Amino acid sequence: METLEKKSYQVDSRGYYGNFGGAFIPEMLYPNVEELRENYLSIIAEPSFQKEYNDLLRNYVGRPTPLYRANRLSEKYKTNIFLKREDLCHTGAHKVNNTIGQILMAKRLGKQRVVAETGAGQHGVATATVCALMNIECIVYMGELDIERQAPNVARMKMLGAEVRPATCGSRTLKDATNEAMRHWINNPVDTHYIIGSVVGPHPYPDMVARFQSIISEEMRWQLKEQTGKETPDYVVACVGGGSNAAGAFYHFLDDEDVKLVAVEAAGKGINSGHSAATTALGKPGVLHGSRTILMQTEDGQVVEPFSISAGLDYPGIGPQHAYLYDSGRGIFMSATDEESVQAAFELTRYEGIIPALESAHALAILSQLGATENENVIVNLSGRGDKDMATYMKYIV
Ligand SMILES: *Cc1c(COP(=O)(O)O)cnc(C)c1O
Repeated sequence: METLEKKSYQVDSRGYYGNFGGAFIPEMLYPNVEELRENYLSIIAEPSFQKEYNDLLRNYVGRPTPLYRANRLSEKYKTNIFLKREDLCHTGAHKVNNTIGQILMAKRLGKQRVVAETGAGQHGVATATVCALMNIECIVYMGELDIERQAPNVARMKMLGAEVRPATCGSRTLKDATNEAMRHWINNPVDTHYIIGSVVGPHPYPDMVARFQSIISEEMRWQLKEQTGKETPDYVVACVGGGSNAAGAFYHFLDDEDVKLVAVEAAGKGINSGHSAATTALGKPGVLHGSRTILMQTEDGQVVEPFSISAGLDYPGIGPQHAYLYDSGRGIFMSATDEESVQAAFELTRYEGIIPALESAHALAILSQLGATENENVIVNLSGRGDKDMATYMKYIV
């Protein structure tokens, strides 16, 4: 376990990472968040929780996911590139590591219903999946506009037995769905658990989600040791939307200061194009979705509408731990444009026979700028597979 006394990149006892984090929530939500805060660490530590969680990761999700040395890509970039294959998880991405953990948490807190919000539908599908598995009622709030745009994922959620409720206010997208889900939770504090899909939200969510995703770096360490004799790589590279796959990939390397932790944000059409989601490049400190973090905002503090070709990275903030990694210099923050990422997706496909998710392609897109040398080891977290992005990729196939 982490010791909170020494200088740490982990959350402190007040729910902060440096100046970032905390729980900025309406008073009506206090009982819900407080119940979770008081219980999450002891529940996670229970041997019966650990056993059930690890059994499901192994036999349901398909863990450990492979650490694959990409030989042709390594040759091209003249370094040693390893891909952490989260794309091979059940449901096609890392998100299920978290929803499995949270559904077990919900059961132990005696909850009978789960609510979630979703934008493109990926988190909604991962949540509906574990609710089906555990026979727990599932309500997913989704913007009316997103419901129209993401028909396959809406169908998946319904097939899994979830009720998809449209958010009809405002821009009818993710932030409106978030408001509706919050309202539902406030009105049903005793029997409902709210599953957040990334390392965002009020404390303890960022820490809880990072712990559930930390299995990624736990496996990386022994897998790299097995293949190279060394437990730590020189670089770990991951894309950042809210930051959960990156948080999981960085977790067990945070205190190894010689491991460079590289977070890749979505530059969209270009950082200065007005159509971007490169939060650290464009943002300033502020409060978003219950925590103090870095977010894209106007002079007077209005949240700026983000843009990225990839739905999973189309978010105006980052989790508070990432804000601290950026602020402290422990993390290296880079960005990739839509075009660069699509190119990187095609490159991986042709070099290695793996079609990545558009989100993950952002992490691959910065390989030429990394400066890694011949003897160094680079792990890229391949957060998901590209099946869901075929409609976008098809536009580039002539
Ligand atoms: C949702 C998603 C992301 C972005 O979320 P994080 O919390 O930043 O990890 C990245 N990759 C894939 C494949 C996703 O589905």
